[in-house]
Amino acid sequence: MPRPTSPKGETAHTVRLVLGDQLNPRHSWFQSTDRGVVYVLLELRQETDYVRHHVQKVLAIFAAMSRFAAGLRDAGHRVVHRTLDEPLAGADLPEMLRGLAASLGASRVEYQEPDEYRLHLQLSAAFGPGVDSEHFLYPRDGVAHVFAGKKQRLMETFYRRARAEHGVLLDDVGGPLGGQWNFDAENRARMPLGQRVPPALEFAHDVRPIAERLARHGVAMIGRVSADALAWPLDRSEQLQLLAYFCDALLPHFGQYQDHLGPADWAYHHSRLSFGLNTKMLHPLEVIRAAEQAHRDDPERVTLAQAEGFIRQILGWREFMRGIYWERMPAYRTLNALDHRAPLPDWYWTGDTKMACLSHTIGQSLDRAYAHHIQRLMVTGNFALLAGVHPDAVDAWYLGVYIDAFEWVELPNTRGMSQYADGGIVGTKPYVSSGQYIKKQGHYCGGCAYRVEEKTGPRACPFNALYWHFHDRHRARLERNPRIGMVYRTWDKMAPDQRRALLARGDWLLEHVNTL
Ligand code: FAD
Ligand code: SF4
Repeated sequence: MPRPTSPKGETAHTVRLVLGDQLNPRHSWFQSTDRGVVYVLLELRQETDYVRHHVQKVLAIFAAMSRFAAGLRDAGHRVVHRTLDEPLAGADLPEMLRGLAASLGASRVEYQEPDEYRLHLQLSAAFGPGVDSEHFLYPRDGVAHVFAGKKQRLMETFYRRARAEHGVLLDDVGGPLGGQWNFDAENRARMPLGQRVPPALEFAHDVRPIAERLARHGVAMIGRVSADALAWPLDRSEQLQLLAYFCDALLPHFGQYQDHLGPADWAYHHSRLSFGLNTKMLHPLEVIRAAEQAHRDDPERVTLAQAEGFIRQILGWREFMRGIYWERMPAYRTLNALDHRAPLPDWYWTGDTKMACLSHTIGQSLDRAYAHHIQRLMVTGNFALLAGVHPDAVDAWYLGVYIDAFEWVELPNTRGMSQYADGGIVGTKPYVSSGQYIKKQGHYCGGCAYRVEEKTGPRACPFNALYWHFHDRHRARLERNPRIGMVYRTWDKMAPDQRRALLARGDWLLEHVNTL
């Protein structure tokens, strides 16, 4: 039997929806209590089912919503929190909210602007405009505004402006601290083999009741979990612990090793703050200020290059990607500039491949719902692009598998930055590489069944021939790109026999991709 909506029979004037990625207790909504306002948090099948999610992602969001609801109640707010076991009546979310409002005598339904286009359409059509989520540093049209009338959108231009506008890492006269905006050139080191990485800060939450509920309702998910020890921080105070740990233990080497790849660890010096940021438990500016402060407090331990390398990701990339999403949706979701059509290799769902870099990256993604940026871009993304996988299939995989995956940030990263399916809106060239890049950046190749130095033959690293195959088949589109011209000059200088052998190997690899 569904519970009555208001145990005390109290009426209300307003129902306010809090989505699972809007868990910001500092939002102005919550700064005063009004017993005429009812906050509603709902576990929804439309949200568990729009893509096949990683089990840790669903568990973490549902558990965090439950904590958030309890926190609101403790603070004196009225809350309706409905699990999958006790859904509100209604065919869809607007109908559920209307029904709840009617049962409480409320005349208004309010919501914070969602970050995902599909929810924006659904809620704005039903209830008119939402209120600001008070999370981002720029409005939805921030990027469109900065680049009005310009063809090229450069993240670096946006980032410098954001640094100046928010007074981040500036010197006394408003210039970039250290005389330089960007320390990217110092962010590409490979960690020496055997160097110690501080352990990731993990929690151990018992979420078995939620796991049992998901099983009872037949929610189809991917990935693995120990439901008695879910490792992700589930509320703001735990996220703040993760932020403090990052600034103390990991930030001192973040910038230097942020591009490192290898099998020895799964997060290296990365913060793992994306889940807390994307669910709004943390505000981007507080994360940025914490990193800046860590540098100013002890500039020898946290050098400028480390702090700047981290801040650029949040103040630059994160805000920039969000702006691209809102500028380009809904068409962005259908772009396929390279006309890629292949299915995703089967082993993306198992990690069962002899390629050590892919096996480790996919295996850890399934185990932990996490991979760091260079694993996503230069291992799984790189291979999918070289193999000509349809961007829809690549998107579905990334949107499902990662704990931090929400369409507004997943889509421009996957379809744009990683797959070049937007034809160069986000990136100026496709992020593809041969095995040499993966070898240079880390320690995967030493433990691989394939030989990174070999280009053709059965043991040759598949990335090598696929790299040339990709450039050859997309020549008409790519060769005039000044950032790629050099690749074609090298290709043209190769002996015809070598080119033929590389293309033949590439053909074979594409035909037998599931066996690699
Ligand atoms: P750190 O390396 O510690 O970086 C700090 C923060 O910077 C991150 O928490 C994140 O908020 C921000 N950040 C870094 N790079 C980016 C970026 N390119 N775009 C936006 N924010 C960035 N990020 C997501 O949050 N959700 C996604 O679904 C997502 N999908 C991606 C798909 C692909 C193919 C690629 C290449 C990248 C994707 N990213 C995504 C960006 C980035 O990989 C993740 O934000 C990062 O790996 C999260 O781990 P972290 O918190 O340890 O990041
Ligand atoms: Fe990956 Fe190639 Fe290195 Fe193997 S040899 S780990 S497939 S880059």
